[in-house]
Amino acid sequence: MAIWNLGSINADFVYAVPHIPTGGETLRSTGREIYLGGKGTNMSVAAARAAATVHHIGAVGDDGEWAVDRLMEYGVDTRFIARVEEDTAQAVIAVDSHGENMIILFPGANDAIPQSILQEAMAEAQTGDWLLIQNETNLQRTAATLGRKMGLRVAYAAAPFDADRVQAVLPHLDLLFLNRVEADQLRAATGKEPQDLGVRDVIVTLGADGADWFGPQGHRHFDAVPVTPVDTTGAGDTFTGYVMAGLDRGQPIAQAIKLAMRAAALMVTRHGTADVIPDLKDLEDFRP
Ligand code: ATP
Repeated sequence: MAIWNLGSINADFVYAVPHIPTGGETLRSTGREIYLGGKGTNMSVAAARAAATVHHIGAVGDDGEWAVDRLMEYGVDTRFIARVEEDTAQAVIAVDSHGENMIILFPGANDAIPQSILQEAMAEAQTGDWLLIQNETNLQRTAATLGRKMGLRVAYAAAPFDADRVQAVLPHLDLLFLNRVEADQLRAATGKEPQDLGVRDVIVTLGADGADWFGPQGHRHFDAVPVTPVDTTGAGDTFTGYVMAGLDRGQPIAQAIKLAMRAAALMVTRHGTADVIPDLKDLEDFRP
């Protein structure tokens, strides 16, 4: 079995600043780091670190070869990442000394993934594989429809939240991931509770309060693994990637969620995103 992830690939430019700049202000940064990022990338890396076979479907520009190389080094199949005319997506992130941040997102190549690369990937997919989608690329609805038609199981992480986009894919989903805020936004948009959306399994993550799973047998709550967080960036993506990997190797969803919570808890004790997502060995040694 395998996971096919239609996902974003970003270069995250993180600038350390004395304060968050206001309109018209010019501000000197005190440092800059460049990281591999994007929700799609993080989820591919997390699932690969959880020992799944992961095929990433996406796009970069001429400036994105390093990102593809990095994904490959992390054990992700990069054959279905197209090279397009648009520049690779970028997030420009300013972070002050209190951890407050400001983000400018340039979607670039993430919005220009050619349909042909999706079709090439789907031609290799097998019935029963998982197709994972988030709201940071084009082709979401096309992929969900195609995946369902081909007998793949389809999962969607509704982040960043867009009510129209999530509702467009809902009828094709087997599994939906929402965080607490997204669950409230979807409730407001549809007037429905998670268990009434017509999706077999819905997982609502609740940060330090854990997660709720709404499945065919009803609702179950999972407490988070207690840790002292230093940076919660990427917790949700790590959780999603680990749940997908567990399901892909045939684990019951409750077990997949429990392991994903350990991975996400360890993740919030680390600074950074894709580069520091824990692997299974890290989890064996993790004593919270
Ligand atoms: P982000 O956007 O920051 O990546 P998110 O909003 O998508 O995250 P959260 O609900 O914040 O997702 O977190 C996902 C999972 O990560 C939670 O269900 C929990 O298991 C774990 N987690 C997050 N924060 C903490 C914390 N402070 N302590 C322990 N576990 C946490």
